[in-house]
Amino acid sequence: MIAATDLVLDHGPLRVLDAISVRVAAGQVAAIVGPSGGGKSTLLRCLNGLDRFQGGTVEVDGVRLDARATDGERRPALAAIRRCLGMVFQGFHLFPHRSVLQNVAEGPIYVLKHRRDEAEAAARALLDRVGLASKCDCRPGTLSGGQQQRVAIARALAMGPRAMLYDEPTSALDPRSTSEVLGVMAELARDGQTMVVVTHAMDFARRVADVVHVVDAGRVVESGPPGQVLSHPAHAATRRFLDEAGVR
Ligand code: ADP
Ligand code: MG
Repeated sequence: MIAATDLVLDHGPLRVLDAISVRVAAGQVAAIVGPSGGGKSTLLRCLNGLDRFQGGTVEVDGVRLDARATDGERRPALAAIRRCLGMVFQGFHLFPHRSVLQNVAEGPIYVLKHRRDEAEAAARALLDRVGLASKCDCRPGTLSGGQQQRVAIARALAMGPRAMLYDEPTSALDPRSTSEVLGVMAELARDGQTMVVVTHAMDFARRVADVVHVVDAGRVVESGPPGQVLSHPAHAATRRFLDEAGVR
């Protein structure tokens, strides 16, 4: 469903993505791990068109984005790709002056032109799914970080994405909030949601991911099932990262 092929991205003299390639099949949970600064966030941002790459291609659900495409060619491809992908970041970026329910319902109402009553009913169902049915009328600021992140997940799901991208969704959270958010993500994964998760939560990667990609210095240095990559890493960069993360 998602394929990045030979992506190259430079920031000035710095090669951030160095001909990186990753494929994610429908229904698959892909964990992306690796040292800070290795290019994980940049890779995710290229997948949904937030960053412009200088070489290679991204293909999402049959829509192709080529580094050589003109702005005119990019625009419709970007719109189609962003409709396919939901994104959740480390920060929650909720609207502070809207209720939790409005935060989830307004994308479908204003962007997808859904009827308000239908969008709100769908939003309530999603908030129930992430364990926040009782918080519909609260302002985001009154919720814990873990609750706010679950609202952000519901908001992304409300747009009906084919796949979800998560960039360190629990890095800013305390242990309890972290386990609440990872629990919701694990449930979504069990229900067949395609997802790409950049994470330092190695337990989650081990339990939930179908495949782990180790990204270091703008390349995938190693990929495989979590049991293999996290317990029997083949590459020195993976061993170094896991030792630093205290996993081995
Ligand atoms: P990760 O998510 O793996 O920690 P990033 O993708 O955020 O890594 O960053 C990869 C590298 O690109 C880092 O060296 C970072 O400093 C650099 N970088 C990211 N964004 C920019 C930018 N807008 N301008 C310059 N350098 C950047
Ligand atoms: Mg990052």
